[in-house]
Amino acid sequence: MADMIKLKTDAEIAMMKASGEVASRAMLAVAEKIRPGVSTAELDKVAYHIITRNGAVPSFKGYRGFPGSICASVNEEVVHGIPGSRRLEEGDIISIDMGAVLNGFHSDMARTFAVGAVDSETQRLMDVTKSSFFEGLKGFTEDNRLMEISRRIQETAESAGFSVVRDLVGHGIGRDLHESPDVPNFVLKGPNPRLNVGLVLAIEPMINAGKAAVEWCEDGWTVVTADGKPSAHYENTVALTGNGLVILTDSHI
Ligand code: MG
Repeated sequence: MADMIKLKTDAEIAMMKASGEVASRAMLAVAEKIRPGVSTAELDKVAYHIITRNGAVPSFKGYRGFPGSICASVNEEVVHGIPGSRRLEEGDIISIDMGAVLNGFHSDMARTFAVGAVDSETQRLMDVTKSSFFEGLKGFTEDNRLMEISRRIQETAESAGFSVVRDLVGHGIGRDLHESPDVPNFVLKGPNPRLNVGLVLAIEPMINAGKAAVEWCEDGWTVVTADGKPSAHYENTVALTGNGLVILTDSHI
């Protein structure tokens, strides 16, 4: 049996908003440091500093042994890149994924950034990935079921000529980083729960420039595209409240 969906009260959503604000602040600080020559370990340090200075704990650090406060995934790396000595180069793209836990509640967000100038097709990949998130969000209403979010993300990405990663999905979030339900970025036959007030989701399209297939690297974490083409990621933690949707990780970037 699938885990129960844990709906959140307004008070819990307010605590999650506080958590999301910490993650957003850390994301902004990391964004300011992204330039050719910076290492992904340096970006990780910035995120750790901001998250802990705000009284929170990085959600990812130590999660199943993950060593970083952020996932830093460059170019063909889809998600879960381990921060380290790699230095960014002009024309790279980098996805930064991070979460914070504050007062027992997690937040989770990702952005993909250009390092200097990137080619126009890669820029289009980043733009479509972001717009697929916001298109998906339009389906997150009390009138719908979960797959309406998935369908909108998939249609946006595929009509632009890109592919949706199948092996990784978004998720519910709360006291646990990953809660029920799974939130696929494509229409999947299977559980299709109603979208009720109190539902909090980490919606996170992972979109590939080439084919959908991905592979796991030998480090046990880094996921890369099988065809070596770039991939982009965009994620927010979003709550459905009695007053509509609230993006809890709104960094304005
Ligand atoms: Mg996530």
